[in-house]
Amino acid sequence: MSRGGGGGGSSPNRASTGPAADQPPAPPAVEPRDLGLPLDAHLHTDQSPDSSVPIDVYAALAVERGIPEIAITDHVDFDPRDPAFEYSRYDDRERVVRGAAERWAREGVAIRFGAELTYNQRWEADVRDHLARQRYDYVIGSVHDWPESPYWPSRIRGWIEGRSLDEIVAPYYAQIIAAARSGLFDTIGHLDVVKRYLHPHITAAQLAERPDLQEPALVAIIEAGVALEVNSSGLRYPGAETYPSATVVVRYRELGGERIVVGSDAHSRGSFAHRLGESYRHLATAGFEALTFRRGDERVRIEVPHGTRIGTVDHLRT
Ligand SMILES: [Zn+2]
Ligand SMILES: [Zn+2]
Repeated sequence: MSRGGGGGGSSPNRASTGPAADQPPAPPAVEPRDLGLPLDAHLHTDQSPDSSVPIDVYAALAVERGIPEIAITDHVDFDPRDPAFEYSRYDDRERVVRGAAERWAREGVAIRFGAELTYNQRWEADVRDHLARQRYDYVIGSVHDWPESPYWPSRIRGWIEGRSLDEIVAPYYAQIIAAARSGLFDTIGHLDVVKRYLHPHITAAQLAERPDLQEPALVAIIEAGVALEVNSSGLRYPGAETYPSATVVVRYRELGGERIVVGSDAHSRGSFAHRLGESYRHLATAGFEALTFRRGDERVRIEVPHGTRIGTVDHLRT
């Protein structure tokens, strides 16, 4: 079945998560610091409704950029009105990703079969059921806007009016906290993507003045033992910060956070590992020495290249 019963229910917010047509043009040059990184753990192929990139394109780019490991994390949605609801079948995704993994292992790229599951408390039982039946190497839990969400573009103005910042972001972070506590995920994806939904009514700068708004979510992530993702896709949108920002990554560490991972959340060829070196730099600056990742039954820590070695030619040669 293709796009399940969308019928106008899909949000322009969701669409802007990355259909090729909505992406900024491919960056003209690859920054040296985006080369030779050990992992990009968040990528969407043409098995997501908002990407048209065949998996082999990412694999070839990984070879070209000296990135030895990537995770394919196509969308899995659980509300029939959401774009990735039954967009692709588990069996098809698994066959395509495992097949590519076999072909590209010879070229020195390990491809992991992951998924990005849209979490909401309303359908937590469905997520649990899905994960009980299906085996992924790696699972990201993300909160996107949902059909009744106050962040839906047509509702956002009315939602913001007369409310404090705390009240405005509360429904979003309540879902993030529930996602962390659910115990279903390896990683919480793009922690504060809500700032994209709030733009331009509330700016990234206004939100940056209130880092405390994210603190309960950071604490929940730490207590649950799930990993925090530093997602570089935010650098491609207004506000131009990773999700979450460097400041929040430092705070996460101060609060006792130990598990962290990175992803470019690419939906197009041009955004593969795009500015991923900045995500690495943020976590290295915060004092993290390793990524936390899962390869099926194997939970691993992957060493983060140190400071100035990130993405340098020296690192590529080691
Ligand atoms: Zn997402
Ligand atoms: Zn994604």
